[in-house]
Amino acid sequence: MIKNLDTDDLVIGAGLCGLMYGLTAVTEGRSVIISEAHHKAGGYATNFYRNKRKFIFDCSQHKVSGIRENVGNLWNTLQRLKLHSLLEEFILHEEIGTVVYKERFIRIPSEPEEIREVLCAHFPEERTGIQQLFKDIESHGYQHYMFFRRLMNEYTINKEILRESRGLAKITAREYFNRIFKGQDIIEVLSPIAIYSGSISNEVNAFYFLHCLYAMFYGGQAYVKGTGQRLSDELLKEFISRGGILLKKNPVYEMEDHQEYMQIKTRKRIINARKVIATCPPEDVLKMLKKDKYTEDFQDVINNFEVGWGHFCVYLVISVPPEEIGIFSPEYLLVSDYGDNFTREDFENDRYYDLFTLSLSNYHRFDPDGGYILQLVMLDHGDRWFHLTEEEYLVRKQKIQEKLIQRAFKTFPDLKGKLIYIESSTPKTNYKFTLATKGSAFAYKMLPKTNLSLLSSFPNDKINLVSTWSGGPGYETAMCFGFTQGKLLSKTQKYESIEEKNTES
Ligand SMILES: Cc1cc2nc3c(=O)[nH]c(=O)nc-3n(C[C@H](O)[C@H](O)[C@H](O)COP(=O)(O)OP(=O)(O)OC[C@H]3O[C@@H](n4cnc5c(N)ncnc54)[C@H](O)[C@@H]3O)c2cc1C
Repeated sequence: MIKNLDTDDLVIGAGLCGLMYGLTAVTEGRSVIISEAHHKAGGYATNFYRNKRKFIFDCSQHKVSGIRENVGNLWNTLQRLKLHSLLEEFILHEEIGTVVYKERFIRIPSEPEEIREVLCAHFPEERTGIQQLFKDIESHGYQHYMFFRRLMNEYTINKEILRESRGLAKITAREYFNRIFKGQDIIEVLSPIAIYSGSISNEVNAFYFLHCLYAMFYGGQAYVKGTGQRLSDELLKEFISRGGILLKKNPVYEMEDHQEYMQIKTRKRIINARKVIATCPPEDVLKMLKKDKYTEDFQDVINNFEVGWGHFCVYLVISVPPEEIGIFSPEYLLVSDYGDNFTREDFENDRYYDLFTLSLSNYHRFDPDGGYILQLVMLDHGDRWFHLTEEEYLVRKQKIQEKLIQRAFKTFPDLKGKLIYIESSTPKTNYKFTLATKGSAFAYKMLPKTNLSLLSSFPNDKINLVSTWSGGPGYETAMCFGFTQGKLLSKTQKYESIEEKNTES
């Protein structure tokens, strides 16, 4: 009979958040097992191959923020974990990308001063609003960005601007832009910049949007060569070398409270853990527990949140180097003439796919070894995909794929006739590989008045929700939140490990 495993911490999920929690906790001297449903670590930070490994597709990595030396929180975190060689693998992007709007190609550089100059050059009539925007990014955006450091008493809230910060958390980014700018054009150029944190200006709250801009403009955005999988694999390697255990292909099904510890039923093993660190969706944690008054009450808390955006992706391989057909920038944001201010109706009747910003990523520029790879990505929602029959699903997938390709052809006509491989994914695909509710790639939406701290105290003190669902989306947030919680929980939970106790008795 297989023996039960004992551990201090059982982490559900080996995405970036789970890996960083695990790595931090083992470094602090705790015993940690990570149980992962998939056959490889990384969650969204993974890749896949086609054509006998000739084509490599990255599943999510575009911009990893926070990597600027002495400024970015992620840089600080990786330094503290002594992951110096991993830090050296990050390459800073030379530009954020090129926004294509009303036939203009606006290249957004990566240094804040240069971004300000570019915006002023393109929109001289908006100079006052642009100055206000940068002032707000440096004050409110920074304040929100430093959330993790505040948890560790390393940042003191700036009370002088707190009231104003709270006010910004109650309005959308678009409402904020309308206050500071005279016209719509600059709004449509700035709105899509935060797309890689799943933010849309007409729904995300302005305080959080300013955080995204701070992380992107000031924190320093970078990438790791060899796709997001490389980052996950390096974190996993360190976790194992510092004593952690990973159980792959091992979904967690059920948990039972045994007073001193939680008993966790997984596909392969039963695990007894002092603490469960859940990086999976909060609603799945409730399903793993026996129904109780406290699980029902917590379901009411979860009902306050709206499941965020997943995405539709067209993976393309082309027959020539992208620069031969005019694709130079690592990233293009193709904004329609109507901008991103779509309505619910646009979304429901599929006009959305013609209107909303489409990103075209030039992965060949990131990593020439992966082939002539381009990806078309648009935010999309599980609500439009999960209810379909298999046949309806395939028809719809084909239709949306064609729409996005036609949009790419409009901006880059020489792309026609160069596509040698096409494959698409939907929010349903996301669910298949990450088990994220409705295939959300960015956890809950950060709408006005969304308060993630409601999720920080789970009504069973042996279970902690440590995830982008409770900390906010993105690579940097996932890793910094995992680290912060690993530090804090290790500090407050110093006791002899179950393993040590077993050996003594
Ligand atoms: C197309 C795309 C582009 C993106 N671009 C960017 C970007 O440019 N910059 C950026 O910062 N962010 C970006 N993101 C977002 C970023 O990838 C995610 O926010 C982040 O990777 C989430 O990490 P996580 O660890 O919280 O969750 P996940 O990556 O979802 O990991 C959760 C893990 O838990 C496992 N799991 C779930 N349930 C169970 C269970 N019951 N038992 C065992 N295991 C379980 C899953 O299999 C998964 O491995 C992008 C996302 C997508 C999809």
